[in-house]
Amino acid sequence: MTATKQEFESRLFINNQFVHAKSGKTITATNPADGSLVGVAEAAGPEDVDAAVAAASAAFKGEWSTFTGLQRRNCLVKLADLIEKRIPELARVDTLSMGVPIMLSQHFVHPWGVGILRSIAGYADKIEGQSFTDQDDGFYKIVEWCPAGVTAAISTWNAGLAYFAGYAGAALAAGNTFIYKASEKAPFNALMIADLIPEAGFPPGVLNIISGGGETGALLASHMQIRVIGFTGSAPTGKKVAELAARSNLKKTILELGGKAPGIVFDDCNIENVLQTCGDIFLSINGQACTASTRILVQSTIVEELTKKMKERFENMEALIGCNPIEPTSRVGTLADTKQLEHVLKGFEIGKESGKLITGGSRKGTTGCYVQPTIFVDVEEDSKLWREEVYGPVVLIKSFETEEDAIRMGNDTEYGLAAQIFTRDIARAIRVSRKMDVGVVTINSGGIGDNQSSFGGMKGSGLGRTGGWYGVKEFMEPKSIKINMKV
Ligand code: NAD
Repeated sequence: MTATKQEFESRLFINNQFVHAKSGKTITATNPADGSLVGVAEAAGPEDVDAAVAAASAAFKGEWSTFTGLQRRNCLVKLADLIEKRIPELARVDTLSMGVPIMLSQHFVHPWGVGILRSIAGYADKIEGQSFTDQDDGFYKIVEWCPAGVTAAISTWNAGLAYFAGYAGAALAAGNTFIYKASEKAPFNALMIADLIPEAGFPPGVLNIISGGGETGALLASHMQIRVIGFTGSAPTGKKVAELAARSNLKKTILELGGKAPGIVFDDCNIENVLQTCGDIFLSINGQACTASTRILVQSTIVEELTKKMKERFENMEALIGCNPIEPTSRVGTLADTKQLEHVLKGFEIGKESGKLITGGSRKGTTGCYVQPTIFVDVEEDSKLWREEVYGPVVLIKSFETEEDAIRMGNDTEYGLAAQIFTRDIARAIRVSRKMDVGVVTINSGGIGDNQSSFGGMKGSGLGRTGGWYGVKEFMEPKSIKINMKV
């Protein structure tokens, strides 16, 4: 197909070159603030995915396999340095595609992504193993971690560069080759860094970037030559990815899925901190964060005070909605697209049937994907709203009497990604943390992204982990070598 005349790169990046998709298919990104066209990207079909895998497969056996850990590290650090110079453009395209305030995109999301890439690069020459002496059985045993081969990741839109950095950084530090598919809602940020890949020193085929929607994702998940696939997205899609992976070649999956995090608020907390975390920060991204506290469990002694203050915060933030997220003064963005808008409005209706609306509950205005920050109280614990993810600016507040009640209510969901605990009693915070069936607990803060600790969910929130060495290991296989010392 012919290239679409537009501001942003639309082609696929395979073997260190931009190429047109053979599929003839495209995906379209529109601006959720006003419905205008952001751009059209070419979508990879079966032949294109095969071409990316063939390039990655040849690269895995080629020059890349001779790179030392330090050389791999240097390529990743150089890529991070080059990406950093493009942050303003990357932030702009993400804001246009999915409505995050430009201030957040430029000063938080993209610098975070660059930091992840730099930090994870450091593991490339520090891949360690284990050894066991022959004292017990006459065999000296070595366990080595080996790269898995051709690997890939499929991602979501809310912090695209951070997901790219986490998956590509881990896979390449480990010595694999890699194919990345961004979300169809924000496809241009990954394409915008593709030309930096050769400049950073990666040989052709090592790092490939393709675009497309669910069909392209499914081609990656079911490809017979891909050995590990990372996926960040919703739980229902994650289950499909796991099924495709199992039905094809039993490739390993890393599934970073949704959540319904409890925020457990004890009466000795710093209330202003709770209001900032569960109010201002949560609303600046319109509640579109997988780890956000969407079920706020409050000790009965302060539930009235906290609910009143949260209502005020939510209403103050509502007054700021409507400023186009591309404006540097914007503090609250939009929902990602009209599909997400419909989903959130449906959540509001379910909430009105199963709880009491305190504030919000409607769309804001008639253009753009803006909704009112919304609070429900007394939501029934067996209702869909209590159990299922909305992924919008809506919180449910419920009171508890005892620590045990809070733990039971917090764990009463199939999700197990994150929990937040607000208290000045650190012994209690640690005690409660240990009882939460989640992969990440944050004390006196929202879900923060760091470069060192593990990130990922228990129960229905996923499989495997990203983050630091935990993420690198997911892209490797342990191999045991046993030496008979008696021969
Ligand atoms: P989604 O599941 O709709 O899409 C995610 C990705 O999957 C996209 O790239 C999409 O093209 C692809 N996809 C769709 N169908 C597919 C299929 N059949 N096979 C393979 N790939 C397919 O999710 P979304 O709307 O992009 O993201 C929102 C969800 O992501 C929320 O549930 C949120 O909690 C979750 N999320 C999780 C994390 C985390 O790290 N745990 C981070 C951010 C968002």
